Amino acid sequence: MKIVMLGAPGAGKGTQAKMIAERYGIPHVSTGDIFRANIKNDTELGRKAKGYMDKGELVPDELTVSMLLDRVAADDCKNGYVLDGFPRTIPQAEVLDKELDRLGESIDYAIDVNVPDENIVKRMGGRRACVTCGATYHIEHVPPKKEGICDNCGGELILRDDDKPETVQNRLNVYHTQTQPLIDFYTAKGVLKTVDGTQDMQKVFADITDILG
Ligand code: ADP
Ligand code: AMP
Repeated sequence: MKIVMLGAPGAGKGTQAKMIAERYGIPHVSTGDIFRANIKNDTELGRKAKGYMDKGELVPDELTVSMLLDRVAADDCKNGYVLDGFPRTIPQAEVLDKELDRLGESIDYAIDVNVPDENIVKRMGGRRACVTCGATYHIEHVPPKKEGICDNCGGELILRDDDKPETVQNRLNVYHTQTQPLIDFYTAKGVLKTVDGTQDMQKVFADITDILG
């Protein structure tokens, strides 16, 4: 099963992708997480990506696409995967499609987690991420047991630089101009499914499992 998660930044793609990965036993592949791991390890790719990410802009396709194709070529992706944060542009979707086509495969579902911009701005201000393991929380909806401390690993929880309000607005603009056209792209392929992402996260997940079966 190959799934693409679509939706604005903060719509809940990562939250749902993790639940899907666990339920269906497929890897959760997040390009944002891969970039953040590269930044943390101070790799050349991380150094190149950081400037774009901090401003809320997209990392150029030439850095992103090869990284993603390498990841999905790994052994654990043989039976499928759930992509979170990729594709984010039409050229990225076209390259992925071409590569899958070459392998005689295709994306089975593109799930659009739909949340209006007003809700997004509120949500992003409440998101907290662990600096050590990357786990995400929300100060209201998914609070950690102890404020500021990760339940999983005891790491420090922070507001990501790109979740600060001034950057969120830029990320939403980037989403509407560069990523939203993917909704038409996957509709034309007959694989688009939309879920109401403003619902509580278990209800969103129930709607997704209804679709995936
Ligand atoms: P994305 O991967 O789309 O950027 P996340 O999954 O990280 O979004 O979710 C953004 C923030 O909103 C997180 O803090 C998360 O805990 C919270 N969140 C996710 N889904 C919901 C939901 N259905 N209702 C309320 N808050 C949610
Ligand atoms: P995310 O964790 O998915 O919200 O991604 C955080 C940031 O990483 C984005 O704002 C982009 O700067 C960068 N990024 C992640 N995925 C992609 C992608 N597919 N294309 C370009 N940039 C990306």
